[in-house]
Amino acid sequence: MVVVIHFNRIINPLWGRHLGNTVKVFGTNLTSHRTKTLHVPPPAKYGGRHTVTLIPGDGIGPELLSHVREVFRFSCVPVDFEVVHVNSALEAEDDIDNAITAIRRNGVAIKGNIETKHTMPPSVKSRNNLLRTSLDLYANVMHCQSLPGVQTRHKNIDIMIIRENTEGEYSSLEHESVSGVVECLKIITRTNSLRIAEYAFQLAREKGRRRVTAVHKANIMKLGDGLFLQCCREVASGYPDITFDSMIVDNTTMQLVSKPQQFDVMVMPNLYGNVVSNVCAGLVGGPGLVPGANYGRDYAVFETATRNTGKSVAGKNIANPTAMLLASCMMLDHLKLYDYANLIRNAVLTTMNETRLHTADLGGQGTTSEVVQSVMRVIQSKGQLTADI
Ligand code: ATP
Repeated sequence: MVVVIHFNRIINPLWGRHLGNTVKVFGTNLTSHRTKTLHVPPPAKYGGRHTVTLIPGDGIGPELLSHVREVFRFSCVPVDFEVVHVNSALEAEDDIDNAITAIRRNGVAIKGNIETKHTMPPSVKSRNNLLRTSLDLYANVMHCQSLPGVQTRHKNIDIMIIRENTEGEYSSLEHESVSGVVECLKIITRTNSLRIAEYAFQLAREKGRRRVTAVHKANIMKLGDGLFLQCCREVASGYPDITFDSMIVDNTTMQLVSKPQQFDVMVMPNLYGNVVSNVCAGLVGGPGLVPGANYGRDYAVFETATRNTGKSVAGKNIANPTAMLLASCMMLDHLKLYDYANLIRNAVLTTMNETRLHTADLGGQGTTSEVVQSVMRVIQSKGQLTADI
């Protein structure tokens, strides 16, 4: 394979000039993460290369991540992958422990969703959840934007969803103390609520956002959600430049499907975050389009925002690769490889504008590999790359 890169174009690609600012591409605001201070990436290794843990996961995870690798190789991205398999059929936790150790070593990971069979015994915890809690990846971030070329009922959506990722309803603390009575504990702590609220406000300020909305159900869970809301209020008082308001979760979902443009940054406990991010993904075109990130103080893990395994579309070359490719771009931003991130992101968005290439989830007949080939063709034209596809 012959690879000739014209470095000046890679380092300063068409859109690269605008890094650090908000750039309009096809009517979509792309905000570079160059000014970011919230996340500290691991330093590059010798030769400026990074090693990233790759967990293929189940369903469409392996095929989508093999396309990410293909695009990275084609774009000469200085990232090496350490592949760690997690077998969701096993009850023992050795696999996930190895994966967690690998992420601790590398600092960064990209993953497919690991299936959690609810038919397995209660002692078998969700591997995805174990990974997030063990690494204290407390902030789940999803940027939900209307995308070019995708027909949706609502236009001009631009919402950042910040979800507490380590506690709440996902505590996995359940017991049946009396037969027929199950108690399932929802844990809300002051420390973690202040931490996620602080994250949301800091992110809002860094991104030039104007409003943060806390989503809750404090009218029913007066103590638990009440504490969450109170923590958000306390943090808000330190950010007079940002408007703070709150909304009950049921009304939030209704408002989202009626008038989503009213939302800017949203912060919420774990389960509401799951529901709201799925609603929002649906609003902009579906689970195949939206990337997600999980950040902690020391580690970051990237995946699709709605964390689907997509078993029903797996192995058929029909899954939409967009969400995973965009997740890989978020990862490159985190590694401060902004120019590569922008090159790939813009190629994905350019391809999405080609409706004839749309995959079945968007009503088209395009295949996963046709989309990926197109992304690489755009990279080749924009980045002046020559390589054998
Ligand atoms: P599971 O048995 O794990 O629930 P599933 O495929 O039935 O698998 P989800 O993984 O929850 O369901 O996915 C929800 C829906 O979104 C499914 O219809 C799935 O096909 C679709 N979907 C998820 N990701 C993608 C994608 N990348 N491209 C196209 N469709 C997707």
